[in-house]
Parts: sequence; structure tokens; C-alpha cells
Amino acid sequence: MKIGFIGLGNMGAPMALNLLKAGHAVNVFDLNPQAVQTLVDAGATASASPKTAATDVECVVTMLPAAAHVRAVLSGDDGVLAGIARGVPIIDSSTIDPATVKACAELAAPHGNAFVDAPVSGGTGGAAAGTLTFMVGGSAEVYEQVKTVLSAMGKNIVHCGDTGTGQVAKICNNLVLGITMAGVAEAMSLGEKLGIDPKVLGGIINTSTGRCWSADTYNPFPGVIETAPSTRGYSGGFGTDLMLKDLGLATDAAKSVRQPVYLGALAQQLYQTMSTQGAGRLDFSAVIRLYRHDGDA
Ligand code: NAD
Repeated sequence: MKIGFIGLGNMGAPMALNLLKAGHAVNVFDLNPQAVQTLVDAGATASASPKTAATDVECVVTMLPAAAHVRAVLSGDDGVLAGIARGVPIIDSSTIDPATVKACAELAAPHGNAFVDAPVSGGTGGAAAGTLTFMVGGSAEVYEQVKTVLSAMGKNIVHCGDTGTGQVAKICNNLVLGITMAGVAEAMSLGEKLGIDPKVLGGIINTSTGRCWSADTYNPFPGVIETAPSTRGYSGGFGTDLMLKDLGLATDAAKSVRQPVYLGALAQQLYQTMSTQGAGRLDFSAVIRLYRHDGDA
């Protein structure tokens, strides 16, 4: 299949690479020429704009930072809708708000295109390994249409319901993630101060009722999990500013339905404090630095 891929960052680049590995032909576009070159070296074709990336393809995938980028890439003068043929699905895997998804779907419909929300979970490791979970919002028919492309980049492809419900699932998952990471950071820091070896404490949590992804895969305490960003100075991984964005999506969405998110609002303030202190680009597990200093700062 011929696919247009726009947004080659920490997530998009390995996802596009997996499409190439699966034998698809891929047109790529990103504002960062270096990111484009890396994909071209792996066999992709460089495009001059989202419009050219979307021309003569059977599917378009976007993986961009936030809603404003998705809108611009979709409907700008040189945007996807200016180049895409009728009937070709547009899959957006960025994490954005459900209202923007619906607005984009309304923009795409008169062009004869389905706009499908398919945000992901699994992080940069999952993107590289092709084991992402995709949360898909759209009709059953469109879901069947996009499943094959998504299968080249992920392991679990879940149909969540109508347009926008993929983002609802994603936002709720990241609400849990932001809260659990802060909880594990708090507990690991307390344990250290009270004198237990962090590796022992990590091991206990991971075989006890405190076990969660934030503890057993992404533990924020350096050295507890060798492959976690905490062990490499909080580089790579899932940026604090992206977590802050996701918690903002959750609190905004909650406001729209008058639903309380007590812990989410508190977690949002923690990541916002980190961002204010200049740690916005560090992995979000660096939230533990609000409790302790490991000498890597
Ligand atoms: P990133 O910042 O690493 O990459 C975004 C890419 O988009 C960059 O290469 C940037 O140059 C490009 N870009 C920005 N504006 C553009 C435009 N107008 N046209 C073309 N390219 C443009 O971000 P990421 O970590 O890859 O995350 C992408 C999305 O996936 C975000 O919505 C994020 O919330 C979500 N997400 C990230 C992770 C993670 O672990 N990093 C996990 C799940 C979901």
C-alpha cells in the first residue's frame, strides 16, 4: 500500500519505519529536515508538504504534537485535504481533544474522506517494536479499512466506538498514568528517605498491590529499571510537556461534562511546576525530582 506519513518525531519516526519494514511505500513530511532524511535513508520518499505527502496514496497517517498542528496539517493551503483523493482515510494518531477530532471529521467529510482518531499507548519503545495499542474512533466500516495499516505499527488495534472515542480512551488512560507516576515517585522518595534500598522497594512494589506500569516498567527512581528513562537522566521517552498537555485535555474534557478530576488536577500542577522549572523536555518520570535530587540535574 502507498501511505502518506506526516510528523516524524519520537513516535512518528519509528512508526513510519515499521510501515516501510512491512513493505508499504511511504511518503514522508516533517518540518524538521533531519527527521525526513533519516526516513529517506531507510527507503521513504520525501514530500515537500502535507499536500504532496497525501497525493496519490491509499491512506494518510499524522503523528503531530497537538490539536493546532493537526488542524494546520489537515486544512492549510498546502494541507492534506488539498492533495488527497476521495475515499482515502486520514488516520490521526496524535493525542488531541475529542472536540477537535469531530471538527476535523467535519472538515474532511465534504472532501469524501473519513478522519479517524487512532491515538496510541506504548511509548517510544512500543513504537519501535511495533507493539503499540491503537484506540480507534470511527465507524465499523472505516475501522475495518484502517486495521491493516495500523497492524504494521501495533499489536492491539481496538475499536472504541464513534469518532472521538479513541481520544476519550487515550485521555482517560493518560489521566491514570500521570497520577500513578506521581504516586510511585512519592513512594520511592519516601522509601529512600526512610532508609530502604530503592531496588528492594521497587521489587516489593512490583510484586505487591502497588504494582503498575509506572513502577514495573518506567520506575522514576534511577537504577531500579535499567531500561527506564530515569536510568538515562530522564532523556527520551514521554516528555513532561506532553503529559502536561494530556492532563490539560483531561481536565478540559472533564469540565465540558461537569465531572470532577481531583487527582488529575493535582497531577497537572506537579507537571506544570516541572515545566516552569525548565524540565518540560525531560521524560515525565522526572516528576520524582520534585521530591529528591539524584545528581543528574
Ligand atoms: P515529537 O515532538 O517528538 O514529534 C512531533 C513531530 O511533529 C516533530 O518531528 C515535529 O517537527 C513535527 N511537526 C510539528 N508540526 C508540524 C507540521 N506542521 N508539519 C509537519 N510536521 C510537524 O512528539 P512525539 O513524542 O512523537 O508525540 C507525537 C504525538 O503522540 C503527541 O500528540 C503525543 O502526545 C503522542 N504520544 C506520544 C508518546 C510518547 O511516548 N512520546 C506516546 C503516546 C502518544
